[in-house]
Amino acid sequence: MNDTEREAYLSYLRNRRSSHKINYYQESLKEIADYHREHPGKKPSILLHACCIVCACWPLEFLKENGFDVTVIYNNSNIWPQEEYDHRRQELQRYIKERYQDEIPVIVPPYDYEEYASRVLKNRGTDPEGWSSCFGCYGERMGSAFRYADENGFDWFATVMTFSRQKDSQKINEIGLSLGRKYSHTKYFASDFKKADGALKSDRICNAYCIYRQDYCGCEYSYHERHQQVK
Ligand code: SF4
Repeated sequence: MNDTEREAYLSYLRNRRSSHKINYYQESLKEIADYHREHPGKKPSILLHACCIVCACWPLEFLKENGFDVTVIYNNSNIWPQEEYDHRRQELQRYIKERYQDEIPVIVPPYDYEEYASRVLKNRGTDPEGWSSCFGCYGERMGSAFRYADENGFDWFATVMTFSRQKDSQKINEIGLSLGRKYSHTKYFASDFKKADGALKSDRICNAYCIYRQDYCGCEYSYHERHQQVK
């Protein structure tokens, strides 16, 4: 990171703390109410991008409670190593099977960390977590899932990444809203799944279902940073 990039990063952190924030949780409640008023009796379909079941379990409850027909997509070539990718996928599929039987399909596109890292994570070795490489990483996975949603006629697309306290949900929603402008059919469902005690609700579900909780975001850089901190 050079001096200009460092200054841009520090300025982003200052603005992130002080800037006016949109309450996307309230926005999502309003969106749901508007939809049901305009389409009485209709069950909207939604494709939900999920990176792990810890982040996804509460959003799934929330969307089901609010009348959505949910399909999950696990497109996360950012996760390293493959054993970890497989473990998170298996936990996601196990929980969904136990909790919802066959009610929620799970789509799993091909996994290729090497290809993903060489294309998307080129600068992640010098970028800190939560900065521009991560924005690219959010956008890449949301973009490919959004394209799938539009091609397959889903009414909405959402991501569970707004659940994470480590991620900037304002930024994630900006990316989602911008992606949404490219598509004619599928709309972006802006969210903030950590609001209204989302973390507490997720905790209860994870405890009840003995869900595996990873301690790093996903890529090899986040793994090494996390384990360096622990040492
Ligand atoms: S820390 Fe997470 S969001 Fe950032 S680049 Fe790595 S996997 Fe992607």
